[in-house]
Amino acid sequence: MIHRRTLKAATQGIGMTSQGTRDRLVERLRSKDIRDERVLKAIATIPRHEFVDEALSSRAYEDTALPIGLSQTISQPWVVARMTEAVLDGGTPQKVLEVGTGSGYQAAILACLVPQVFTVERIEELLKLARRRFHRLKLNNIYTRYADGHLGWPSQAPFDGIIVTAASMGIPQELIQQLRIGGILVAPIERAGMQRLLAIRRTEEGYDQEDLGGVIFVPMLSGLS
Ligand code: SAH
Repeated sequence: MIHRRTLKAATQGIGMTSQGTRDRLVERLRSKDIRDERVLKAIATIPRHEFVDEALSSRAYEDTALPIGLSQTISQPWVVARMTEAVLDGGTPQKVLEVGTGSGYQAAILACLVPQVFTVERIEELLKLARRRFHRLKLNNIYTRYADGHLGWPSQAPFDGIIVTAASMGIPQELIQQLRIGGILVAPIERAGMQRLLAIRRTEEGYDQEDLGGVIFVPMLSGLS
């Protein structure tokens, strides 16, 4: 699905941004219990340094979150991998929605694995930069929208999976409504001052949920910026 030659051009170079550096990140994720080979392959493919400011590119393959401006962060690779694994669990989703495009990295990883990725961002400046990256890397199966992600993307629903990359106080009900039965929503949910990463599967009767552990995300905010 990815245009190999373009990616090669975009990832050329030696040192801190080379394929070898990316492969070492993959090995680190494998040692931290990321098992889905499809996800590991996507992480080996997508040049994360293209999603951060040039001044930070030497740190792009550390397993850590990094600032992307406007008080936002690109998620830690382990978290991206875990969320992607969870949304792929139990099948091959055709349509996935992401809330919180940010740098665009999570959407780019999804674009290697899912035919159609829809991503919503409330900060126009970040969305513009992310769109430019998608274009440069020829990730033509990512559809973007400048909107408040609390509302999801009703005209494209139902989705097979939804990934939320900003923390909300409760499980966003609007988003659950946009999942097909059997689909999975992965989201950081704040409870008693702590954030837990939840994987919520929509069922005929309601939903089941699994706690994937403690995480730290920026808060989900309302309105546009
Ligand atoms: N997935 C991103 C992580 C971005 S951090 C990446 O891979 O880089 C979370 C993002 O969620 C921020 O860009 C923030 O602006 C956005 N966000 C917060 N609340 C939102 C909302 N209500 N709707 C859409 N985006 C939101």
